[in-house]
Amino acid sequence: MTPIQFRRHLHAHPELSFREHETAAFIEKALADEGIPSRRIAETGVLVRLEGRGDLRRATVLRADIDALPITEHTGLDCSSLNAGVMHACGHDMHAAVLFGTLCRLNAERDFDGTVFGVFQPGEECNPGGASKVLAENPFEGYEVTAVIGGHVDSGLETGELGFCPGEFMASNDELRFHVRGRGGHAAMPETRDDTVTAAAHIITMLNAVNDDKALLAIGRITANGATNVIPDEVSMEGTLRTFDERVRRTAWKIIGGVAASVDAKFGTRTEVDIDRGYPCVRNDEALTETAERLASEMFRARRLAPRRTAEDFGYYSQRYPSVFYRLGVGAAAGRSHTSSFAPDEGAIAVGIDFMCRLAKAVAHQ
Ligand SMILES: [Zn+2]
Ligand SMILES: [Zn+2]
Repeated sequence: MTPIQFRRHLHAHPELSFREHETAAFIEKALADEGIPSRRIAETGVLVRLEGRGDLRRATVLRADIDALPITEHTGLDCSSLNAGVMHACGHDMHAAVLFGTLCRLNAERDFDGTVFGVFQPGEECNPGGASKVLAENPFEGYEVTAVIGGHVDSGLETGELGFCPGEFMASNDELRFHVRGRGGHAAMPETRDDTVTAAAHIITMLNAVNDDKALLAIGRITANGATNVIPDEVSMEGTLRTFDERVRRTAWKIIGGVAASVDAKFGTRTEVDIDRGYPCVRNDEALTETAERLASEMFRARRLAPRRTAEDFGYYSQRYPSVFYRLGVGAAAGRSHTSSFAPDEGAIAVGIDFMCRLAKAVAHQ
């Protein structure tokens, strides 16, 4: 099976995060047909191990995500989704096809040092992130992982163009929920009630003051269900915290708790703060990223990218092992990802395979 056929099958049969049962069975079969053994990981993921030459305890890990999104497809493609309300609208079918093609080539050529792992990872789009489940199974125990390599399609880059950002690349994302509670009452009788709404407003203003280029905290939802003359017992707020550094992230958690406590002390309210932890920051190893960027510029075109405030569960790998996460151009005509019309250029698959093979071999050899 060619990588394009592989991609089209996945595209026509998308499955939601952590429900990639048919997807995993298809990947296992396609690999087996190429003579590549695999095993399941994280229930609906697939793990491949290829042995090269030399010290087999040194390992390079290649990762692709495989889950789709709850979107009804409107691309008009021949390989459009056959699963109602589900679509590969983030290009993970492309990522899986690139990894499939890369593993086929590495398996056939066997001209690399050490061990190469291929991870078809489930559940990137949804907490707790399939990456955390993969790592919880310790699949690389006993190996020295020298690099984890992954990429994501990008319609901001032309086909044949790859994007790189050494160091801090993508943000952590934590969901924030606040419940500011107090005695509600008549708006005109402040001595008999607490200022729950004003307390909530103070929390927002104080938290906004924390924002800088390393941390972004935004509240997107407020519910204060009172009336013109009724102050409610409770005000709820929801928002997001994004940071580029795990230390900044932990500091921000402390600041959030401190702000709530100081507002409570001033207004006599009781604020419950709930921080639902999302993915950690994606940190690109500088040396690895420079190697990747140099190779890309020799083979195709390389572009330096700014950090992004979106999140990726690849962050789990990058917090544990030297890692590089890059962007693979699929052309502006692809449109925006996470929309019903997203249609990346399949020409990027061959680019992705050439690049991933070359990068895997280069870092395995270092
Ligand atoms: Zn996505
Ligand atoms: Zn994605």
